Amino acid sequence: MELTNLIGGTAPSLSFEVFPPKNSANYESIRAAVEEVASLSPSFISVTYGAGGGTSDYTVSLAADVQDRFRLPVLAHLSCVNATRAGVRAQLDAMRRRGIANVLALRGDMPPGSAPQENWDYRYASELVAEIREYGGFCVGGACYPEGHTESPSQKEDILHLKEKVDAGCAFLTTQMFFENNVYYNFLFKARDAGIRVPIVAGVMPVTNASQIRRIVALSGTALPQRFRYILDRFGANPATMRQAGIAYATEQIVDLFANGVQAVHVYSMNNAFVARKIKENLSEILK
Ligand code: FAD
Repeated sequence: MELTNLIGGTAPSLSFEVFPPKNSANYESIRAAVEEVASLSPSFISVTYGAGGGTSDYTVSLAADVQDRFRLPVLAHLSCVNATRAGVRAQLDAMRRRGIANVLALRGDMPPGSAPQENWDYRYASELVAEIREYGGFCVGGACYPEGHTESPSQKEDILHLKEKVDAGCAFLTTQMFFENNVYYNFLFKARDAGIRVPIVAGVMPVTNASQIRRIVALSGTALPQRFRYILDRFGANPATMRQAGIAYATEQIVDLFANGVQAVHVYSMNNAFVARKIKENLSEILK
């Protein structure tokens, strides 16, 4: 099913993100964790590609296995930073064979210290979006950054390039995580003002590990509000209390988003079925 039929509608959509295994040895254990997340009946599941250290071989098979077994819509990520056109075509062929209908087209993170080169097959995600649209048969989404992408000199410029990406053929966007909903609302206003009309799925990360989030935030440039820093300071040293506080904080964010008319929220629960289940339970009446 094309995701735009889900996320542009009137019913609230709650989806989860998972990552594939790094090698065949842990395929079954990761698949079991992902199937536990899928059994919660989210609106859809997205499967990352090559994020955080090169896990790209199993994205299509994991996404397709979940889709076949649970009859759930899936979104397969695909990045292009180190890719050739032939490699991208091969991934698209594999997705088509396995019946995957939705792709999140990404540039991917640059190798440290490098910048986009003229002779690369792809420099920006917009080129991948255009190529997938030309290939045909996929509903294509893209990433966006409510606080501006780290490489962008200004948010204004980032939004201009985002508009180009949407014009290249994105049917929807998903945001980077944010911890303060006003950041999302302000971004939405500016994106709409720039003529971006596609649905913008709000990305929320339930933080369960204090040192991990400090690392992620340092890399992504995401701001941590003071009230969230107090939570990290007070509960960060104890995994059980941090997990509970992180789930409560994310739930509160999601309730506020739905209350303000946001239709689709994507949860970065990353193969953690316990966290995904708690969030889903906390929203059970709201999602009915
Ligand atoms: P782009 O849209 O190409 O933007 C990258 C930068 O280039 C921005 O600063 C933009 O303003 C600028 N830019 C764009 N076009 C131009 C232009 N014509 N001229 C000059 N500058 C331009 N990474 C993975 O490796 N695997 C994943 O599965 C993954 N999933 C993600 C999911 C989401 C929802 C998000 C938000 C990010 C994800 N990422 C993933 C991370 C992403 O790949 C990185 O953030 C990457 O640095 C940028 O990717 P992009 O697709 O947004 O790039």
